[in-house]
Amino acid sequence: MRLQVILNALERHGSFVYESAAWADSSKEGLLVRVRPRRRSRPICSGCGNRGGTYDHLPERRFQHVPLWGLAVWFVYAARRVACPVCGVKVERLPWASGKERTTTSFQWFLSRWAKRLSWRETAAIFGTSWHTVFRAVKMAVCWGIRHRELEGIEAIGIDEVAYRKGHQYFTLVYQIDRGSRRLLWVGQDRTKETLGRFFRFFGRRRTERLKYICVSVATVACGGSRSR
Ligand SMILES: [Zn+2]
Repeated sequence: MRLQVILNALERHGSFVYESAAWADSSKEGLLVRVRPRRRSRPICSGCGNRGGTYDHLPERRFQHVPLWGLAVWFVYAARRVACPVCGVKVERLPWASGKERTTTSFQWFLSRWAKRLSWRETAAIFGTSWHTVFRAVKMAVCWGIRHRELEGIEAIGIDEVAYRKGHQYFTLVYQIDRGSRRLLWVGQDRTKETLGRFFRFFGRRRTERLKYICVSVATVACGGSRSR
């Protein structure tokens, strides 16, 4: 069975074709799957979602996909720029990755599921990617959860922080920690008062007033993050 057959069964994108699958320059780098648009298909503008004519092509880029048999898998694609009548010249929207991500959405979901069981560092090491890629995958999953899940009835939250770039930068993480209902609710850059302010603005005054417990990590208190609350 060819790799393209498996990909078409699991991850089919109507306007695109998996053209070929081959080893990268060295087998350690994994497998490269070349993707091309279907003939006569018109690219979708990333600005407004309308189809338009092809303006030109950007250089080829790699998008890391879910690994297969321990091998890294990369989609290779030269994105088209769209001559959009509304937005002007814009890069096309790709169905397998969002925005400027260089990781496929499927791989982001895969990483975010493992990141619930392992530390982000372990997840990155095992699946051959960076801590930051795992972080962005978790953030994508959290944002999806925010758009699709209820935030009502939360009584207890925990505020924690993680350091990255050798401890020079931080993310603030807010979890729901009610008994029987634990999940990551929100991720914000930095660990300042303003970061927490952004969380509470997102969470809303009414829900904040109904909170019974706010647990804050010692380090977060030490930096003055939550004193005003
Ligand atoms: Zn447009």
